[in-house]
Amino acid sequence: MSGCISVINSGSSSIKFSLFDQIEQEEMRLIFSGQIEGIGTAPKFKAKDGDGLVIDEKQFEQGASSGHEHLMEELIDWIRARRLELGLELRGVGHRVVHGGPFYSRPVKVDDQVLAELEQFIVLAPLHQPHNLSSIRTILQMSGDIEQVACFDTAFHRTNPPEAQTFALPYELSEEGVRRYGFHGLSYEYIARRLPELAPELANGRVIVAHLGNGVSMCGLNIGVSVASTMGFSAMDGLVMGTRPGNLDPGVVLYLLQEKQMSGDEIADLLYKRSGLLGISGISNDMRVLLASEDPRAKEAIEIFVYRIGREIGSLTAALGGLDGLIFTAGIGEHSPEIRQRVCDVASWLGIELDEAANGRGETLISRPQSKIAVMVIPTNEELMIATHTRDVLLGDVTV
Ligand code: AMP
Repeated sequence: MSGCISVINSGSSSIKFSLFDQIEQEEMRLIFSGQIEGIGTAPKFKAKDGDGLVIDEKQFEQGASSGHEHLMEELIDWIRARRLELGLELRGVGHRVVHGGPFYSRPVKVDDQVLAELEQFIVLAPLHQPHNLSSIRTILQMSGDIEQVACFDTAFHRTNPPEAQTFALPYELSEEGVRRYGFHGLSYEYIARRLPELAPELANGRVIVAHLGNGVSMCGLNIGVSVASTMGFSAMDGLVMGTRPGNLDPGVVLYLLQEKQMSGDEIADLLYKRSGLLGISGISNDMRVLLASEDPRAKEAIEIFVYRIGREIGSLTAALGGLDGLIFTAGIGEHSPEIRQRVCDVASWLGIELDEAANGRGETLISRPQSKIAVMVIPTNEELMIATHTRDVLLGDVTV
């Protein structure tokens, strides 16, 4: 039986999953992917094959059977049944885990002891980490013989120099873990690994990767290594996101607490769910809706989104000591020529010259030959990155 690897990305209201085979090849093949959405309310299951055709769909009953643990058990049974039909052996499950704390700089095989250690980071990412870990625990309890690997969103940034990771706060807080971690690391790592194939010279240079999705951040890569990123202690820092504000004067949080008498939970709700593009526009967190809208506040939300990216491009360029390339990725970065154009306009002082036709067609290279900075569009693939890490941790790097 040939082997396969499953990938699980478990959030508060959804579980995304996928299965890859051809694990002996450098680039594995996607067999199916899908998600369970609406966990806690009305969970719906949908799976598609590697070509995007729906292969199964169902609605779960509300009640006890709609909880996270139960749905995870059902999902594992479903994956097992499918892989048996396909004649594949499940070699392991890779999980996206948002926080690896200050020291995890690479993926790790999970046992009870590692899981207990990762639980200590729940305080650092209370909205995501508990759900990431609960799936791992459910599988451990269900079937101890399934090997599991945790792949961290923070790990790729552990190469940032200490001055990029430390806040100017009393040092004890830093020792306790109040530091800049950076996120979207699996996406950046995927791009860093693709770059040598697509643009070998750029792979050896100074590059900013702009991950513009519902979550938004940028990372400075020097010869493929992360040296700085716009996200910090939490996935709220940095750029304007769908519903998160990005960089915010801490004085604002004090004002909300002391003058508006808001509770911690109310502030968390405001900052995670009601700010960003949605908060400014009052219309939507979806860039497509805002781009199509004539409403002045939708226009203002996009202005601020682009302005802040422009400022951070300056900051990351300084951290890198110059710039050779700018890469767009994730939902907005991959699919919106207008946003790419506007970002390149605000960064034109760097010598960026966009090829408008290539940008419109979403080609890989979208800058003109004489542009001082190469501008590219590279689709990210965090699931494949997790599958690759899981294969390498469990089986050794079989392609080497
Ligand atoms: P992601 O988090 O990478 O899945 O990206 C999701 C976001 O990408 C959505 O919220 C949309 O705002 C955005 N998006 C997807 N397609 C487009 C598009 N064609 N134009 C602008 N934004 C898009």
